[in-house]
Amino acid sequence: MSAEDGLFVDGAGRCFRSAEEMWASERSRVPGKDLWLRKGLDYWDTVSPTDDGVLGGYAVVSPEDLKGSKMFVSLLMRRCGKVSQQEGGSGGELRAIDIGAGVGRVVKGLLLAFFDHVVVAEPLAHFVEQARVNLAEFGDRCSFHQVEMQACPLQPASYDVIWIQWCLCYLQDDDLVEFLQNCAASLRPGSFICVKENVCIRNITMIVDAEDTSVTRSAVRYRAMFARAGLDVVEEINQVNWPKGLYPVYMWGLAPRAGTHDGTLPP
Ligand code: SAH
Repeated sequence: MSAEDGLFVDGAGRCFRSAEEMWASERSRVPGKDLWLRKGLDYWDTVSPTDDGVLGGYAVVSPEDLKGSKMFVSLLMRRCGKVSQQEGGSGGELRAIDIGAGVGRVVKGLLLAFFDHVVVAEPLAHFVEQARVNLAEFGDRCSFHQVEMQACPLQPASYDVIWIQWCLCYLQDDDLVEFLQNCAASLRPGSFICVKENVCIRNITMIVDAEDTSVTRSAVRYRAMFARAGLDVVEEINQVNWPKGLYPVYMWGLAPRAGTHDGTLPP
C-alpha cells in the first residue's frame, strides 16, 4: 500500500483521499497552525504530572515500553560502537535530548542508562517541575529546558541520540519535516534520531484526534515523512507485548541520508 492509498480523517471525522484535502479541512476547523499547536498544549496543561497522566491513563504499559526501548537503543549503540563514560567508554561524554519529555519517565527509565548527560525538553511548566523532582538524584547529569519542540534551540553537532516519543503527533506534516531537518543538523557524526509513535492501521493513513489535536499516522506515512526530511531508516522495530485495544507502536532509528552529513544534496 502506498502512503496515499488510505483515508485521511480530520478532527470532525470527515474522510478525505489526500493529505492536502485533510489539512485544508482541518485549517477551516482550527484556523492557524499556532492555534492548532496551542490546543495540543492546552490539553496537556490539564493533565496531572504523573506517569499515568503522560500515558493517558495507561501507566501500566510503562515497563514494557521502556523494555522495548532499551532493546532498541542497545541495537543502535552497538551499531555505532559508542559507549558512555558511565559504562566505561573512553570516547568522551555521550549526550542525548528527550523532546516532549513529559515528567522525565523515559529519561529516568531509559536514556540515563546509555548517555552521560540528558537534556529534558518539555513545553509545560508543571511537567518540567515534576521532571526536576523525579530526576533530582541524577544531579547535573540532567538539564532542563521549558520549550516547544518547534522552537527548541538545537545546537549543531550536539547529540548522540535525539529521542522523540509520542510527540511528533503534535506537528502538522510540513512542521514535522522541518523539525526533523533541524534535529538532523544537531546530530553528532554516527548518531541517530529515535522516533517512537503510535501508528494507525488498516485503511487509515492519518487521523486527527480533536481532543488534543494530535495526528496519528500510518507507518507508511511516517516513512514518507522521514524520506522528505532527508533521513534514512536504519532500524525499525514494533513494540511487542502491547495491549490489543491500543494503537500499535513503532520505533524508528533515523540517520541523515548517506552523503548528506556534509550538507551536500541527496541525488
Ligand atoms: N515523551 C514522554 C511524554 C509523552 S506525553 C513520555 O513518553 O513519557 C506527550 C508530551 O508531548 C507531553 O509532555 C506534552 O507536553 C508534549 N507536547 C505536546 N505538544 C508539544 C510541542 N508542541 N512541543 C513539545 N512537546 C509537546
